[in-house]
Amino acid sequence: MATSTSTAAPAAGGKAYRFVDHKFDVVVIGAGGSGLRATLGMAEQGFKTACITKVFPTRSHTVAAQGGIAASLSNMGPDNWQWHMYDTVKGSDWLGDMDAMEYLVREAPAAVYELEHYGVPFSRTEEGRIYQRPFGGHTTEFGEGPPVQRTCAAADRTGHAILHTLYGQSLKHNAQFFVEYYALDLIMTDGAVTGVVAWNLDDGTIHRFSAKMVVLATGGYGRTYFSATSAHTCTGDGGGMVARAGLPLQDMEFVQFHPTGIYGSGCLITEGARGEGGYLINAEGERFMERYAPSYKDLASRDVVSRCITLEIREGRGIGPRKDHVSLVLSHIDPAVLHERLPGISESARIFAGVDLTKEPIPVLPTVHYNMGGIPTNYWGEALNPTAKKHDEVQPGLMAVGEAGCASVHGANRLGSNSLIDLVVFGRAAAQRAAQVIDRESPIPDLDLAACDKIMERFDRLRYANGAVPTAELREKMQRTMQEDAAVFRTEESLQQGCKRISEVWDEFSDVKVFDRSLIWNSDLMETLELENLMANAITTVYSAEARKESRGAHAREDFPERDDKKWRKHTLAHLSPKGKVTLSYRDVHVDPLTALEDGGIDPKKIAPKKRVY
Ligand SMILES: Cc1cc2nc3c(=O)[nH]c(=O)nc-3n(C[C@H](O)[C@H](O)[C@H](O)COP(=O)(O)OP(=O)(O)OC[C@H]3O[C@@H](n4cnc5c(N)ncnc54)[C@H](O)[C@@H]3O)c2cc1C
Repeated sequence: MATSTSTAAPAAGGKAYRFVDHKFDVVVIGAGGSGLRATLGMAEQGFKTACITKVFPTRSHTVAAQGGIAASLSNMGPDNWQWHMYDTVKGSDWLGDMDAMEYLVREAPAAVYELEHYGVPFSRTEEGRIYQRPFGGHTTEFGEGPPVQRTCAAADRTGHAILHTLYGQSLKHNAQFFVEYYALDLIMTDGAVTGVVAWNLDDGTIHRFSAKMVVLATGGYGRTYFSATSAHTCTGDGGGMVARAGLPLQDMEFVQFHPTGIYGSGCLITEGARGEGGYLINAEGERFMERYAPSYKDLASRDVVSRCITLEIREGRGIGPRKDHVSLVLSHIDPAVLHERLPGISESARIFAGVDLTKEPIPVLPTVHYNMGGIPTNYWGEALNPTAKKHDEVQPGLMAVGEAGCASVHGANRLGSNSLIDLVVFGRAAAQRAAQVIDRESPIPDLDLAACDKIMERFDRLRYANGAVPTAELREKMQRTMQEDAAVFRTEESLQQGCKRISEVWDEFSDVKVFDRSLIWNSDLMETLELENLMANAITTVYSAEARKESRGAHAREDFPERDDKKWRKHTLAHLSPKGKVTLSYRDVHVDPLTALEDGGIDPKKIAPKKRVY
């Protein structure tokens, strides 16, 4: 392995850093489901591959995924990829790219069987097939038939099972892991990504990687909000790096609220709970979803259910002394079934709500859960840097997969269990594409030292930041702003106030105070670096939301309650300047599926835009 060590003085601060330099064909940043699937695939293709991760791989947020992974296996009744595609298109509120969505749902069954063969311990039916449960928005007959059982599950620990299996598999291949390394920034040389600089949290060394391809698999940015189901590590570092590299972020205004976060802690109760027969009630004991979504009731899609809960609370039918939540009832389900299919949430309900769910309902509230927006890519995972004329221009040297990326298969709203499948399908696609586009004969680029110095200048600036505002204080300010001004329902007033407040937070960051100057396990400095990344995601989210004058999927404007396909069926692109100025432009949605009807594709009439009702 081409590795060299050197010591050099940084531009500011006066302390010398110890540098370790590496050359790899491919560097993957992130070891969640998408990062591990990409790492495994890249190594399989024979590329010299590194995987950098700030937490131990099996602690990535993917481990927390409960409900399952969607694929039309038809194990529990008739199903096919066309129905899955229709549901995904409708779930996305017609903002998703048709080619990417077709690719996802057609590849899904093979990707799940591949996981099975890798060793994922799926729950089983009587006949020994993979068990599948119903999930919100997954239906039959192009939305005309009953709910379908499409979500493959390993009890309510599906992410745990997948992540551990993928980590085991990637160790079998020749990839090198850099665990507890924090990636700081992309190395940009003449407009191309040529590597990345990372900080070894354990010994304080700085590692400079040159590579032919960097894959961002850094997950979502749920922690921009005060209440989120995501891990504290979900800080949108990939989005921050991309924004600093001068590249755009796409569709950031679409933030998913999960209807059932446990009241108080925000801890998730999987949608699988409603899939297994659970239902929501208000203070009057009424199953209110029957009123809003007569066909699919509690299994309408997430944005719809979250809005209905918010309306119930607003209209005074919330539960508890403050009438500020609703309840999820599971006590009518056979305790043996709860024990077998939902053991994890039984435990969460006991620990985080003090509730025995075989006897009492669980208090729940919509909580931030998923980011539909992210780094724009095509359906091979290649990052895009669109220009005014070329909306699909590829960014050399960069790919993005998983929640960090935006292919876009979830459009304005993601269906439950469509993320885990996105991780493995696009993780694999990225490796297949890399095999086509990486020139194996050409040398790995030389380290761009000038670009690395710039990255270290920023690192140094934050390491020695000596302002007046502690990181935690500023982070809370940002999180409260997002929670209050970019919530389930939005208005011009709330969003304009949000823009103002989030820009103030951005400006205040120049006055941040880092207390710890050391380089070893300096969590103060790492949280400050993470805060800067969170802010890049937060500010682009609020400005993009302010500009979009319609309601679509998770973006619900009270002042513009209708979807407006004529003006707004387009992707938002947000560029962020170093001074915190957000510039917006737009990119066409891919309205054509991958395969023509005569070649066995889906009938375009079936997926043409229409009103979205459940
Ligand atoms: C509680 C919960 C339950 C869910 N349940 C489901 C479900 O049942 N079905 C479903 O389809 N989806 C579910 N989702 C969504 C889905 O789990 C996530 O979208 C998905 O796991 C994200 O995977 P990822 O690979 O993109 O990133 P993550 O799993 O979040 O991993 C990110 C990786 O990036 C690394 N990283 C980040 N920044 C840096 C940096 N600066 N330097 C180095 N490394 C870095 C981290 O160390 C980590 O390894 C759930 C989400 C949550 C929060």
